[in-house]
Amino acid sequence: MEITGAVDEVRKQVKEWRKQGLSVGLVPTMGYLHEGHKSLIDRAAAENDKVVVSDFVNPIQFGVNEDLATYPRDIEADKRLCEQAGADLIFHPEPEEMYAPDFSTYVEMQKVSERLCGKTRPTHFRGVCTVVCKLFHIVMPDRAYFGQKDAQQLAVIRRMVRDLNIDIEIVGCPIIREKDGLAKSSRNTYLNPKERKAALVLSKAVFCGEDMMKKGERDADTILAAMRKLIEAEPLAKIDYVEMVDADRIEPITKAEGRVLTALAVYIGKTRLIDNFIMEV
Ligand code: AMP
Repeated sequence: MEITGAVDEVRKQVKEWRKQGLSVGLVPTMGYLHEGHKSLIDRAAAENDKVVVSDFVNPIQFGVNEDLATYPRDIEADKRLCEQAGADLIFHPEPEEMYAPDFSTYVEMQKVSERLCGKTRPTHFRGVCTVVCKLFHIVMPDRAYFGQKDAQQLAVIRRMVRDLNIDIEIVGCPIIREKDGLAKSSRNTYLNPKERKAALVLSKAVFCGEDMMKKGERDADTILAAMRKLIEAEPLAKIDYVEMVDADRIEPITKAEGRVLTALAVYIGKTRLIDNFIMEV
């Protein structure tokens, strides 16, 4: 496995693979890799001859008061996980390699990026779309792998690829959870032991909503009210949003019908965590 911080090196390597007729999968990440990331890399390795993992804490997807400076980083542990999972190349650039001092071109999306996380983090998806578009142009993979953990991000990427005619297959992968239900996230490391316990309200709310829908409940307000009640019972939790939307358009729905995304964001102390479930009804 190779690691490089240089765009040119990635291009050279991928061209070499292309000459040999090999297929390429890309897994974009911000590093501090865990089992959730590993599931994406495993899947990419199973479906492609070569796998590139990008490991880059993208500054432009963080708002001014967010956790860019404290976001956890451990490239040595990331290398080990990537190697184990069967990655062939890690792209680990410095911000200067990705953003020239006079960088001035962004990918802006309307609608799909405006609700849920886009409401609380108004510049977030502009940063995500821009960096993912850049990574697509640098690597030019056949397929790219994203987790359903970030369900709105997945919908946004699918829309960008459709709207801009980007010839890359987007593969969505299921949420990987801790044994007790908490969705794995690099940000879980921010939680102290008390908060870690309190964070279980996110998955509990997700399982509660899922269960209600499985039992036939279709009214969004009824399902969301039960989920909110569960979260509000936890003193360390503060709801950012709990919403039901169309999973592709990310527009609110009052009745569960079609491909439904029920998503939530909750502050546990100062840490903002997200979780969701998608159900076809
Ligand atoms: P991040 O490093 O947080 O930007 O995540 C990189 C990719 O890994 C994104 O596509 C995430 O959706 C995905 N991912 C993160 N956590 C999980 C998880 N618990 N299960 C599945 N995919 C995940």
